[in-house]
Amino acid sequence: METQQVNNSAYHLDLEKKYGAHDYNPLPVVLAKGEGVFLWDVEGKKYYDFLSAYSAVNQGHCHPRIVKSLKDQAETLTLTSRAFHNNRLGEYMEYATAYFGFESLLPMNTGAEGVETAIKITRKWGYTIKGVPEDQAQIIVCDNNFHGRTTTIISFSSDAGSKDYFGPHTGGFLHIPYNDLDALEAVLQTNKNIVGFLVEPIQGEAGVYTPDENFIRGARALCSQYNVLLMADEIQTGIGRTGSLLAVCGNCSCEGHCERQEDTYVRPDLLILGKALSGGTYPVSAVLCDTAIMDVIQPGQHGSTFGGNPLGVTVAHTALTVIQEEKLTQNARVLGEKFRAAMNAYIEKSSIVSLVRGKGLLNAIVINDAPDSKTAWEICLRLRDNGLLAKPTHGNIIRFAPPLVMTEAQLEDCISIITKTLQEFE
Ligand SMILES: *Cc1c(COP(=O)(O)O)cnc(C)c1O
Repeated sequence: METQQVNNSAYHLDLEKKYGAHDYNPLPVVLAKGEGVFLWDVEGKKYYDFLSAYSAVNQGHCHPRIVKSLKDQAETLTLTSRAFHNNRLGEYMEYATAYFGFESLLPMNTGAEGVETAIKITRKWGYTIKGVPEDQAQIIVCDNNFHGRTTTIISFSSDAGSKDYFGPHTGGFLHIPYNDLDALEAVLQTNKNIVGFLVEPIQGEAGVYTPDENFIRGARALCSQYNVLLMADEIQTGIGRTGSLLAVCGNCSCEGHCERQEDTYVRPDLLILGKALSGGTYPVSAVLCDTAIMDVIQPGQHGSTFGGNPLGVTVAHTALTVIQEEKLTQNARVLGEKFRAAMNAYIEKSSIVSLVRGKGLLNAIVINDAPDSKTAWEICLRLRDNGLLAKPTHGNIIRFAPPLVMTEAQLEDCISIITKTLQEFE
């Protein structure tokens, strides 16, 4: 086949369309290379990445240290399965538990597997420790949640496309509106069989819905009061993205675990991580909690062939050190404030953008048009033409989440691309 043809976007778009499942609707751009905050398409055009693979690439594309640890470990040992021990897993577990301030870690691969694992641990804790009658356990979830794509997880989705025609659905989940502590308490009061509350500290997929300052803290207090496990899905919000190591940390911007102030720090009972845990280099997820909870899982009761493999955990170990050593959490905090300030200044004289919301470098703008209009999509196409890649999320919302390695000068450049592009739609 001719080089000419292989270097052409249309060629690749065509192949995917012809031979692939149509489970995504990607922006038409075919990427061939990444470095830091930049991506290049097959024609060689350079873009700022403003999605970071849904916040998996917090450390930037092809981070040299992460890639080096991947290469070194790939030449040494990649997979043993958990039938045997490997010499990478223990040190990673020690490092990651200290990093996030928990006693124990269960390693998995994808985010959805992390959520499934947290559900299993929580249910078993409910039966064997809380004393809920078997098969009666209920977990509270929020409307408009996104926790992944497995059959159990989509059973408690409120998105018809994610859920319809994939039944029969898994039971054991009760819905409350997001950011509604009264609704949470009402359910906790009336149902004795509740074992967990599964929540995203910011709802990323739903459109970066950022709850009131006291929502997570209030949920923590209610969960403690009713002896229910607080399960924080920080797959998208965690690991520096929101200007805190974890979004549940509120205003604490320390790197790694510290003696946090009681009034800002919220500690979930179960912490679910994925995405940036490996810097987008390899699928690595984890559930962290204390031993008293984790020990409900005994040999033979859960597992994964690839979970905890030496390649994945080596990459994750390095990816976590990069966040800390390069102070990416603080950078996300400072740049996030600049970004929202610039967008708010733009919005004052804009008729096309109605608001900006978010924390750190997880932000979104809401387009002032009907939720089913194509305006956000059209804006994203124009942003692409102008050298910046972002994707609309539910409704007329555009998420802006660049890698956390962005510099201030680069952010200013991006703000100018975004505002100039929006100007074309006023
Ligand atoms: C991406 C995501 C998941 C699912 O992770 P996968 O690796 O795609 O399975 C779960 N929860 C949240 C909040 C996410 O953003």
